[in-house]
Amino acid sequence: MHTHSTYSDGVFTPAQLVLRAVSRGVKLLALTDHDETDGLAEAAEAARGLDIVLVPGVEISTTWNNHTVHIVGLDIDVQSPRLVEGLASIRRCRGERATRIAAQLDAAGIAGSLPGAARHAGDSAAIGRSHFARFLVEQKHVRNTTDAFRRYLGSGRVGYVAPVWPALPQAVDWIRCAGGRSVLAHPDRYHLTRQVLHNLLEAFASSGGDAIEISADGRFKSSAQVRLARRFGFALSSGSDFHGPGTNVPDVGEATQIPVGERAVWQELRTGK
Ligand code: AMP
Ligand code: MN
Ligand code: MN
Ligand code: MN
Repeated sequence: MHTHSTYSDGVFTPAQLVLRAVSRGVKLLALTDHDETDGLAEAAEAARGLDIVLVPGVEISTTWNNHTVHIVGLDIDVQSPRLVEGLASIRRCRGERATRIAAQLDAAGIAGSLPGAARHAGDSAAIGRSHFARFLVEQKHVRNTTDAFRRYLGSGRVGYVAPVWPALPQAVDWIRCAGGRSVLAHPDRYHLTRQVLHNLLEAFASSGGDAIEISADGRFKSSAQVRLARRFGFALSSGSDFHGPGTNVPDVGEATQIPVGERAVWQELRTGK
């Protein structure tokens, strides 16, 4: 329920992603590129006639309480005007941010990062930090992308520019207008204290959020995440957040299992019925 293609910062085209998912036994796949739905047509085309159902999705960058929080929208109508306009506005912000990131890297002695990142942006209409990270690896400024975030692109580093994302309730509303379900992506990855995480879940619930993702790779046990979901009335979602093959990251189809008897978000989708 959570994957990326070359239309954001994934390394496979939508068609390659679908074929990889099929070969790994995935029956229900959501493509959820960052702030972008243009890869969905190619994915749907590739899935036609194969033993897989494609869920149209998106992962929206939002701000809540000065934290960047990602909201996955599942089963969305990609032509919904408010969603279309909202995502376009985020991509415009990404363009402005990319220019500023490049200027800051330039001042730090790293030249050519804007065209460099653009070369790594694939089919994506907007540049993100992953594309800068790949440029920094390519130019041997760092050994790997984790290093690129730690040394240049992460919060407080020389290439960091505070993003301007829409507020969380706004994104949930766009997804609702598009007939979709909202999922709080990877709640264990925001480095929040327990109390602040509770505040986030409360804000997400009162915005009309539907589900939270569980994962086993973060700081919280998935059983604790399940308990939190129950407490706030959320369904559960699970996804690998697959961007491409690499060490230590789950491949497509390797998401955490949702415990038997718990409410899974895909039981409530129109797609696949
Ligand atoms: P952006 O939305 O442009 O700010 O970029 C965020 C994306 O960068 C995430 O979706 C991840 O794919 C990637 N990312 C974030 N932090 C790291 C990290 N520490 N190491 C590698 N990739 C990261
Ligand atoms: Mn990403
Ligand atoms: Mn994310
Ligand atoms: Mn993601």
